Amino acid sequence: MPDRDPECVFCGIVAGEIPSTKLYEDEEILAFEDIHPVAPVHLLVIPKRHIPTADDVRDEEGDLLGRMFLTARSLARSAGIVEDGYRIVMNVNRGAGQLVFHIHFHVLGGRPLGKMG
Ligand code: 5GP
Ligand code: ZN
Repeated sequence: MPDRDPECVFCGIVAGEIPSTKLYEDEEILAFEDIHPVAPVHLLVIPKRHIPTADDVRDEEGDLLGRMFLTARSLARSAGIVEDGYRIVMNVNRGAGQLVFHIHFHVLGGRPLGKMG
């Protein structure tokens, strides 16, 4: 079993205890729709294992992060947002807007996104 934090909403989604609209799943990765989308396409890609922030990723977990990135790219292709442009974002800690402390890539697209602020 992947490591789990009983207080964590995304661990609850991984466990199937909290409903989500799943888009992709394998042994170590899950992707689902964001519950409060800020763009027409707003997906989240997470590791099944609980990792609180990007700063907690261990050196040996680089491959996992790479596979999460490839999953995000593949989902962007499937959503048809590549040509117009999209964004892959990971917020790190509260000052950057991180609210759920289980790492996730946001995949955002389907509208003009403008410059990063
Ligand atoms: P953060 O602010 O941590 O970078 O992003 C957390 C994201 O998770 C937010 O975009 C928020 O809408 C989404 N989120 C929070 N709780 C849930 C939930 O229970 N289900 C889903 N699908 N998304 C959630
Ligand atoms: Zn978690």
